[in-house]
Amino acid sequence: MKLSKIVCTIGPSSSDEETLRKMIEAGMDIARLNFSHGTHQSHEEVFKRIRKINPRIAIAIDISGPKIRLGTLQDRYTLKKEAKVTLTTDDIIGTKELLPVNYPSLAKEVKEGSFIYINDGFVKLKVLQKENGNLVCQAIDGGNISSRKGVNIPDANLSMRVPTEKDLIDIKKACELGVDYLFISYVRDSEDILKVKEIINSCSYNEIGLVSKIEHRDAIKNIQEITRVSDGLMVARGDLGIEVGAAKVPVLQKEIIRLGINKAKPVIVATQMLESMIREPLPTRAEASDVAHAVFDGADALMLSGETATGKHPIQVVRTMREIIQEAEKNLTYNSTITSKLDFPKGGEIGEAAVKLGQRLSVDAIVAITQTGYSASMISRNRVPLPIYAVTPDETTMRKTNLLWGVKSLYHPHEADFDQMIYSIIKKLHSEKFLKSDNTIIVVAGSVVGLPGKINTIQVLNVKETLNNFE
Ligand code: PEP
Repeated sequence: MKLSKIVCTIGPSSSDEETLRKMIEAGMDIARLNFSHGTHQSHEEVFKRIRKINPRIAIAIDISGPKIRLGTLQDRYTLKKEAKVTLTTDDIIGTKELLPVNYPSLAKEVKEGSFIYINDGFVKLKVLQKENGNLVCQAIDGGNISSRKGVNIPDANLSMRVPTEKDLIDIKKACELGVDYLFISYVRDSEDILKVKEIINSCSYNEIGLVSKIEHRDAIKNIQEITRVSDGLMVARGDLGIEVGAAKVPVLQKEIIRLGINKAKPVIVATQMLESMIREPLPTRAEASDVAHAVFDGADALMLSGETATGKHPIQVVRTMREIIQEAEKNLTYNSTITSKLDFPKGGEIGEAAVKLGQRLSVDAIVAITQTGYSASMISRNRVPLPIYAVTPDETTMRKTNLLWGVKSLYHPHEADFDQMIYSIIKKLHSEKFLKSDNTIIVVAGSVVGLPGKINTIQVLNVKETLNNFE
């Protein structure tokens, strides 16, 4: 069992049934469907395929927000340093000299002298002048460009916000499909999330967890309010590295993970984790180290993007990530530096007490009986390397808790009698070989069955004795 989880982006390299099946076997916990690419129909087919293969895998849809992109180009090009290139918002097929961009107010909102970055920042342009509603630019750093590559303009205060018109359509689709998480791009403040929440609440299915992608400099400024209204955070290192500069990303990664642990909100570390495996069968040693350090930082989950979406080795890269995670986790001890500043969201005391008691008594596992996953998150945030079983009568909670550090989730229906329910859950965990007869465990639950948010009991139980008492 690994404690940090793996999110895989599904794309042309990984959308067939056999590859998905093998990726799940290799360690995928959450599948990400990136709505910046593909069609609703193609995503729906993949969604149904994953649900059929394994209904326990969480599925997230990533909505593009006001992400600026190039339009379609006739070909792939290499822009040379100092080359002149014009950016237009006209609906054209682009060439090396004239690049279409999908942001209608481009010329109005971007000033002369600003820098524009294309393709993860590899190409850097300087705006020389505005001409007929277009931007005439010069390449400061040359590089490769092709259709739909991302465009960043960190200097500009752009007016387009989450949710865009495309986001509205994509959010409705997410509700229709019944996905578990929505990853929201280019969040700038809590209002952005609240607007998305309002749309989701107007749908008949509204159990979707909202993960804010932290990739804009405003999001760093407003990180506390964003964390308060989000169900999780993503350190979206690709765009973040362009917006604030790559040098600031490692420290921000640590700070965002620390904040997530503090507030009991799961944090995903994303982008370029095993980038070279898009082409190669092995990672670089620096990538292996990056993955391990995200584990040491205490990340709930690590994300693969191009590696699994379009790469040559979608199964091998998941296996490699799992191996690095597990190796790093062998060196995890109770990390009091990570958790020393927990500031106790409601219910946190019980989670912390359960974990401390578990440590003192050297128990073998903690079982959280949970309706919404809240108590599991209160235990997970303490980052104690003990198996945490989240047992829930809610299938959405079962999938959503997959994202939480150290949590293995299982479905079990509610039973009217509290003691009887604890017995049947232990019996199930024992018969499925998660628990052994001589194990001692801590069970955390609310004594009023079916009432969410009311954890009020901690029990220390021996598996064999509990089973014998009821048989
Ligand atoms: C990122 O920028 O790191 C990221 C995950 O965003 P995108 O979906 O644009 O790749």
